[in-house]
Amino acid sequence: MSFINLDQIQSALNQPCPDPGRVRDVLARARTLVGLEPEQAALLTRVTDAMLLEEIFSAARGVKETIYGKRLVLFAPLYISNRCQNECLYCGFRRANADMQRMSLSQAQIADEVRCLTAEGHKRLLLVAGEQEGPGSLRYVLDSIATIYACREPGLEIRRVNVNIAPLETEEFRQLAASRIGTYQLFQETYHPQTYVRMHPSGPKADYGRRLLTMHRAMQAGINDVGIGALFGLHDWRFELLSLLQHSRELEKTFGSGPHTISVPRLEPASGSALAARPPAAVSDEDFLKLIAILRLAVPYTGIILSTRETPGVRRAAFALGVSQISAGSRTTPGGYGHTEDETSGQFSLGDHRSLDEVIADIAQLGYIPSFCTACYRLGRTGADFMDLARPGAIKAHCDPNALATFQEYLNRFASDETRRIGGALIEDHLQTLDAPVAATARNLLQRMAAGETDVYC
Ligand code: SAM
Ligand code: SF4
Repeated sequence: MSFINLDQIQSALNQPCPDPGRVRDVLARARTLVGLEPEQAALLTRVTDAMLLEEIFSAARGVKETIYGKRLVLFAPLYISNRCQNECLYCGFRRANADMQRMSLSQAQIADEVRCLTAEGHKRLLLVAGEQEGPGSLRYVLDSIATIYACREPGLEIRRVNVNIAPLETEEFRQLAASRIGTYQLFQETYHPQTYVRMHPSGPKADYGRRLLTMHRAMQAGINDVGIGALFGLHDWRFELLSLLQHSRELEKTFGSGPHTISVPRLEPASGSALAARPPAAVSDEDFLKLIAILRLAVPYTGIILSTRETPGVRRAAFALGVSQISAGSRTTPGGYGHTEDETSGQFSLGDHRSLDEVIADIAQLGYIPSFCTACYRLGRTGADFMDLARPGAIKAHCDPNALATFQEYLNRFASDETRRIGGALIEDHLQTLDAPVAATARNLLQRMAAGETDVYC
């Protein structure tokens, strides 16, 4: 576990407030898109001066705009089961929570959920489940993935299934890889070993080391897109941020590419959890935005995912600072999209209750292009291959046209009249801002769709 160097992190955090000159040197480096050393990121976490903070935010906005432009990728979580053998003190699904009504969706129920999501216009799902006992539990997940991909009609299909399930062994990860998943996600929750042990008193998840090495097993098994994260609110956010960076460097050193995404869930109230109601290391909105900005500067090519745990206001501020993927119209109850209205069987409370269409209208009004693109995954541009394209900026020639085409596809079939009006104008404006060859590619995709094709991408 030596790649999380606790002493180094602690000593970097204990330094005094840095002088403005050093902060500006670090920001100048970050603006060149080469990322930051963990010590440089640590230095930024210690900034408290309002003017310097604004300079951090401004540098993060610049990096975000340069690499990701105006695109925001959209997805929805699909909770298939809330049965769990762990006792994570912050989670509504923990085993001892007798108030939780337990359910594992049948394959028919999963297909119903998928039909609800595709009818709204979703193309990307994140499959989520509690950790169940027994050899049948992986089979259940694999069957569920197959059900999701099989549930398709023209223009109504899930094109990429990402997965957030409990750690597997290497051989099991090989089976998961064979099921055509997009990203395998797993959050360490807290990288601080003592806090980890307190938060996870029983069940397989109590083993800190096994969880920390999960992505090594996944990548060894051939899953080359992995997503890491920490649950902010359990321990000092600065410690978690630096640990995420160390984890990311370790994966890059060992496998040639770091994580595809980093998620930044913040602890929310959950039924039957006193701890979630009063987070032990609550993160203020200002610190939350600061940590997103520092992440953006430190690992510029790694996607940052923000969920509907956050309120619309925090989400709007976070988009500009570095977030590149968001969930929308989410439910955390198995069956929550179609089968059950039972809010008490959800995992935690949501901060953003708006529908996909409302979120899309809002972000389009802010000038962002909602994207449902799945082209890289479908064309095999993943892992190190994706990073080779992303670093020199070549990926933008694909991302902008694909984002516009998938947004147009959404507007044609799923949007309300108002969203269609806002979106149509935005697409026209955005085309004017693109370099001529990229704009030509985008127009070509849009023309193909106007002629009746769906699912066009490059
Ligand atoms: N059960 C698997 C696990 O724990 O790794 C995977 C799915 S779990 C349902 C997904 C994530 O939800 C957890 O990794 C945790 O970070 C997050 N979570 C749990 N309780 C939460 C809460 N009260 N507020 C916000 N996020 C929470
Ligand atoms: Fe189970 Fe995951 Fe919730 Fe922990 S966070 S209780 S493992 S569902």
